[in-house]
Amino acid sequence: MTRGIVYLVGAGPGDPGLLTIRGRELLGSCDDVVYDALVSEELLASELRDRDVGRHFVGKRGGDTGSARQGEIEVLLVKLAREGRRVVRLKGGDPFVFGRGGEEAEALARAGIPFEIVPGVTAGIAGPAYAGIPVTHRGAATAVTLVTGHEDPEKGEAGTDWGALARTSATLVLYMGVRTLPDVVRALLAGGRAPDTAAAVIERATSPGQRVVTGTLSTIADRSRETGVAAPAITIIGEVVRLREDIEWFERRPLAGQRIVVTRARAQASSLSARLRELGAEVIEMPAIRLEPLDPAPLHRALDSVATYDWLMFTSQNAVDVVWRAMRARGLDARSLGHARIAAIGRATADALLGCGLAADVVPERFVAESLVEALGRRDDVEGRRVLLPRAAQARDVLPDGLRALGADVDVIPIYRTVLDGDGAARVADRLRAGEIDLVTLSSSSTARFFVDAVGAEAARAAPAASIGPVTSEAATALGLRVAVESRQSTIPALVDAIVARPR
Ligand code: SAH
Repeated sequence: MTRGIVYLVGAGPGDPGLLTIRGRELLGSCDDVVYDALVSEELLASELRDRDVGRHFVGKRGGDTGSARQGEIEVLLVKLAREGRRVVRLKGGDPFVFGRGGEEAEALARAGIPFEIVPGVTAGIAGPAYAGIPVTHRGAATAVTLVTGHEDPEKGEAGTDWGALARTSATLVLYMGVRTLPDVVRALLAGGRAPDTAAAVIERATSPGQRVVTGTLSTIADRSRETGVAAPAITIIGEVVRLREDIEWFERRPLAGQRIVVTRARAQASSLSARLRELGAEVIEMPAIRLEPLDPAPLHRALDSVATYDWLMFTSQNAVDVVWRAMRARGLDARSLGHARIAAIGRATADALLGCGLAADVVPERFVAESLVEALGRRDDVEGRRVLLPRAAQARDVLPDGLRALGADVDVIPIYRTVLDGDGAARVADRLRAGEIDLVTLSSSSTARFFVDAVGAEAARAAPAASIGPVTSEAATALGLRVAVESRQSTIPALVDAIVARPR
């Protein structure tokens, strides 16, 4: 029997890119994840994908006392491991920095459960880094102290000697101190720390919503109250904060602070989203279109007699995916199509075929059905031949009609359907109506239509649109959308350039 094990893994402070390689490996192979509120849903979704993983949310709920909850978490970890499961206990930042990772490791050790610790990037170091504040700096700070502001210094029960901390010139990094900041400041001033010592509060550090409030020891508590700083936030006290003036970088990226909705179907959204994120935008991916598989039986029957077809034709990457998976499930591979010719509607579809070891014999000049019919019309091996065309249920009839006109015998097999993703859409509609979206990207006329259908006309019109080209702009305008950006070329990089160039 495989023995269960628990990995205490640091997830980093929020930016999914700050997860460690070891953390990623473990999330990619574990049976269960036990996580709390500081771990971003985005990170979980991207690391776990559609894997069948037990998810246990153990964040604080209203009314919980922290320690009762802590006991339950330890019991859960031990139980899962005893069932033989590989468990990732995922914590924000680093598990051993104010993360109660030590207590969980002790509980596992007591219970005789094997465990490993995977350190993470802690918010108190990464937050300042993303704010342009080095926590140590030659001539400014030779030491740094990580301290919790959780304990109430007024109550005298705190284990922290604020007076002693006040007398050093070490950079102080204060965790969990939003509420107690005024008390901590008072204690440090009373201990003799200079009132004009530089200070900063970093809210939601490393996330697209990161906000930095700066001041001095004497002003920082008021400044953060006035600006409404909320948890999670890190406070930095020390002269190093002044370096931010020169080395602030995160908020200076071209699209920092922009909230942009990306409307392509999820599988294809990633390159656009990744570029926008790199430039600093908060990207809200709205899978306007979701793929829904249809009854696989007709495709399986067609594949069982695949030797009787002279042609296979593919009009989307998705169709290639679905057919290839169905083939693999039936023990077939590229050799079973050795006799047949293959047509692909466009470059991306042809590339997907190549990925399966199949080179397309025909790819038309323009990547549309009309152009494919033209290309096939120039050949002498279509008339009287049998064609298998597995594709989306709602596709146009240009291709099958054209093939029949050329004298081919066409079997159209609907293999998937594109549908609106209602949940994703409702959340985006709310944010649009609340004025929280700066731009919506439209990568085709059909995504424009899907977008309006999905969020409703009123919400759709609440934000300006960035269109990939004139055809899409025309469709968008006809739908009542305001096109504020139009790409010069119909490519994703050109669309991104146009968004960056938009005057704000
Ligand atoms: N183990 C975590 C800390 C957990 S204690 C780590 O190593 O980062 C929780 C505190 O961490 C919060 O109250 C806040 O002070 C800080 N924190 C965690 N993530 C943060 C973030 N993204 N931005 C600002 N502060 C954060």
